[in-house]
Formats: sequence, C-alpha cells, structure tokens
Amino acid sequence: MSSPETAAGVDRHAVLLVGGLDPSGGAGLFTDAMVVRKLGLHPVLATTSIAVQNTSRVARHYDLPAALFGEQLNVTAEEFSLGAVKAGMLPTVEIIETFAEWLSTRPRLPLVLDPVLRATSGGELVDAAAMQAMTRVLFPRSRVLTPNLDEAAALTGRSINGRDDFPKAAEALLELGPEWVFLKGGHLSRGEAADYLASSRGGTWLVDARRAYGNTRGTGCALASAIAAHLARGDSVPDAARAAKTFLTAAMDAAYHCGKGRFLVL
Ligand code: PLP
Repeated sequence: MSSPETAAGVDRHAVLLVGGLDPSGGAGLFTDAMVVRKLGLHPVLATTSIAVQNTSRVARHYDLPAALFGEQLNVTAEEFSLGAVKAGMLPTVEIIETFAEWLSTRPRLPLVLDPVLRATSGGELVDAAAMQAMTRVLFPRSRVLTPNLDEAAALTGRSINGRDDFPKAAEALLELGPEWVFLKGGHLSRGEAADYLASSRGGTWLVDARRAYGNTRGTGCALASAIAAHLARGDSVPDAARAAKTFLTAAMDAAYHCGKGRFLVL
C-alpha cells in the first residue's frame, strides 16, 4: 500500500465525490469528504441532491437540475488532478446521463459506484427509472460496484439469504458490466461480517468478526470513498478493497452516538 501524502506542502491528488448532501451529518458527501481527507487526498464535490433527513426518516429529497450538476463537474473538477471518482446517490435520469457524458471524456479515470437506493432509515432516495439508467449507462463504466444485499437483490431480482447466495449474485451483477463487484454482507443477520469481492476471474471472501452494533450511518458511503481514495493512490482493486474494509471497521469500532443515530469516527 502506498503511503498517504500528508506532509506539509506536498501536492495531493483529488478524488471527485458525486452524491447527495445528508444534512444530519451521517452519510453522503459529508462522510465521503471526511474519508478522503483522512486518507491523505483532497475531496472535490459535485452535489446531486439535498436529502432532507434525520437518522429516523427521509422527509424529502430535492434533486438538483442536471445543468447545475454538470456545471459543478466542469468548473469544480477542471483544475484538479483527479485520481478517482466515487459516486453515491444519483437520483434522476438526467443527472446520470450528464455524469456518463462527462465520464466518457475521461475514459481512464476509475469510478467506484455505490448504487444507493435507500437511506439507512429506509427512505427511498432513488426511483426505478434512475436505477435502470444507472445500470444501463454507469455499470459498464465502473471499476468497482459496491452494493449492499438489498441493492444487489433489487438490481438482480435474486433473493440473497446467506453466504451461499453471494457468488451467483456477484456473477449476475458482473454481467451488468462493472469490472469488479464488492458485495457487502453487513446486513446479513447471522455469522461473520463477510463481504465478497469478485471479477470475471473469480471471487474471494473478505471476512471479519461481526460487530454487534446497531445501524451505523454512512458505512456504505465511507467504504466506497475509501476504495476510491486507495485507487487514487495507485493501489490495485483487491488491495484497495481490503484497506477500505479495515479502515471502515476501525471507524465503526470508534463510533459515537448523537441524536438517535450512531456515527462513524473518521
Ligand atoms: N447518500 C445520501 C445522500 C444519503 O442520505 C444516504 C443515506 O442516508 C446514503 C447515501 C446511503 O448511506 P449509507 O452509507 O448509510 O448506506
């Protein structure tokens, strides 16, 4: 693993973070930016939506016009040396198409796509039309796709009830076009905290002792951002995935309570 470039005066690469703003401070761009900073890179943001929520419910999300989103990509990102992109909440077909067009002019920039559909509280963030557009135009452009089990089930139409179901689900997701799938097992009700990393060359388990914590906000966001940060530092996908899992586990172990939520320490 390369060392973070944190010394004073040293140039840092930037990671572009695309997603929604969670005003309750637990997930979305706020968490993404903290992860990227912590891992020694510079976060650059393109906001897709303001997801008005607390830890119990999503009241509403106000999705930005695609033109405003596109301007952020063009103006904010233009002067930075981008090492990777992480995308989370992509709520409209227009935003997804604008993003895909921008990406098509940067074919070598690695994309880590967290196919966010719902908030941890259960509130819907992305509708069926956007999910279909994301699958069609962004999955084939993704270096790593990081679904949780609910997202994997929604995307493949398969039920995933235990570890035996992971390899087939990952295969079905790979058929949708991403180079790698990091299938997150954290929502399984029993057993170890097992994730499955797969490409067309096969799959491997990443296993850790299960933590008996309730729902912690922003875990999916943090994992995908950490993978993107490690890719920007030049790590391979398997190395980036392992490092990101270790990083997330430490952030979960140190988490604090505020309001009705449990929040990562980053
Ligand atoms: N992005 C936004 C803007 C959100 O509000 C949420 C959840 O609330 C997420 C992503 C997904 O969060 P998590 O990492 O908890 O799955």
